[in-house]
Amino acid sequence: MLDKVTQLREFMGGFASDISLGSVLETLRLLYSVARSDEEKQLLDWHFANLEYANAGSLTNLSAAYWDQDDPYEMGGDHCLLAGGNWRLIRALCEGIPIFYEKKVQTIRYDDDGVEVIAGNQVFQADMVLCTIPLGVLKKRTIVFEPELPEKKLAAIDRLGFGLLNKVAMVFPHVFWGEDLDTFGCLSKQSYRRGEFFLFYSYHTVSGGPVLVALVAGEAAQSFENADPSASLHHVLSILKGIYGPKGIDVPNPLQSICTRWGTDPFSYGSYSHVRVKSSGNDYDILAESVGSSLYFAGEATIRQHPATMHGAYLSGLREASRILRATRAQQNNPKKCIQKNIGPSDDILLDLFKKPDLAFEEFYFVFDPLSQDPKSLGIMRVTLGKSCNECSIEHSSWKKREDSCQHLLNEPLQLYTVISRKQALELQQVTGGSENQMSYLFKNLGLRLVGANGLGLLGNSVTSNIVSARRGRGRFRMSAGRQNAV
Ligand SMILES: Cc1cc2nc3c(=O)[nH]c(=O)nc-3n(C[C@H](O)[C@H](O)[C@H](O)COP(=O)(O)OP(=O)(O)OC[C@H]3O[C@@H](n4cnc5c(N)ncnc54)[C@H](O)[C@@H]3O)c2cc1C
Repeated sequence: MLDKVTQLREFMGGFASDISLGSVLETLRLLYSVARSDEEKQLLDWHFANLEYANAGSLTNLSAAYWDQDDPYEMGGDHCLLAGGNWRLIRALCEGIPIFYEKKVQTIRYDDDGVEVIAGNQVFQADMVLCTIPLGVLKKRTIVFEPELPEKKLAAIDRLGFGLLNKVAMVFPHVFWGEDLDTFGCLSKQSYRRGEFFLFYSYHTVSGGPVLVALVAGEAAQSFENADPSASLHHVLSILKGIYGPKGIDVPNPLQSICTRWGTDPFSYGSYSHVRVKSSGNDYDILAESVGSSLYFAGEATIRQHPATMHGAYLSGLREASRILRATRAQQNNPKKCIQKNIGPSDDILLDLFKKPDLAFEEFYFVFDPLSQDPKSLGIMRVTLGKSCNECSIEHSSWKKREDSCQHLLNEPLQLYTVISRKQALELQQVTGGSENQMSYLFKNLGLRLVGANGLGLLGNSVTSNIVSARRGRGRFRMSAGRQNAV
């Protein structure tokens, strides 16, 4: 039937973009009298559910004209599962990269001079940002862009579809479904429930245990979101018992189970993108467009050739990395911008200074001009993030939970700095309740921001030079806290 859709599309010179794949398939089914018996109808419904799984969307939502626009780019080779899970791939990719967990971005402020990403009471500043927020989150507008994204991008965000696929993962005491079976399906009597546990994947060869995953696609994936997980589990088990009971095989209760809720997860609001009615592959290109010179976009919904996939998301990241590299090189060739950006003290000088801090508590280290005890005299504070999950307690409780999984991710410490007066440093030291409270005090009460060495700017450069000179016994050019606001 899908071949017929393609033929019809070619014959008609394309469908109007507001016709759904579901309506064309239903017309063809009636026209060619496909699946007249109940059994045939159930089998056809199973294939429709499979199509809805692949597209994370009901057939009534998919564009008949463009739902398969990425087919020509499909990669060859077998589908395969990574033994030990996809986590292994991610772990290798983020080796040596500091990652801040538990930071929920609320606002992204951008202009041609740079970006501020605001997460809770923290502000991350950068020259450029690569935004990989899922399309579902962009659609909900839970992240505020200042200024607002261009109309053209907002319209593409609205047009493209972001649908649902849910799963129930179960760990059983043993593999009762057959060691050689990778996957098996189940027909539904009711058409609207065709996607409910219609397909099972066995993961026992790759997960190291007797794991079975049931898929929920199409309309059923929507109702699954609101169902009680124990009722859902009970239903899956009754289906399994219906398949294996007649074969004399006992279906044990699972030792552990989990039901996904991708539609209500505030960090995704759905599973992956599809070309919805009235949308087209162009919308992926629009989503990929950068805004100004500081805001870039990657992620599965920005790559029209490989949307809805992990490899697509990865390739879109490489695409943007090269785009950002080109833009950075162009900036470096612009002497005006380049001089403005590289005005902070060098890493080597700071490294040397902080070998002998004048004050240290928790993760905070301070160096001051030794020739001035004036409470207003300025120094530099350094905080080292990502030494290891145990050592860094900024997100102590949450990081501790992830101790096993993320220790290796944080093996590349990130050093951030701020210019701070002696008085402010002593105030910070008095704050009780650990480094999390102190960090909060730094941002909220002292109004200070942490930056990379370069971000310390002219003021940081002068303060550093003063301290270096004073330590060498040649104190000069002292500055007071009053000057800090002027920069
Ligand atoms: C059930 C299911 C099955 C799938 N099966 C396959 C498959 O078999 N093969 C395949 O290739 N692909 C599959 N995919 C698709 C694949 O997982 C995605 O296409 C891919 O992960 C998308 O990567 P991404 O980087 O674009 O987005 P994501 O991986 O979703 O990353 C976006 C990140 O942004 C974070 N985020 C969101 N909002 C905020 C915020 N406000 N502040 C801070 N962070 C935020 C999220 O927490 C998330 O970490 C499947 C997806 C699902 C849901």
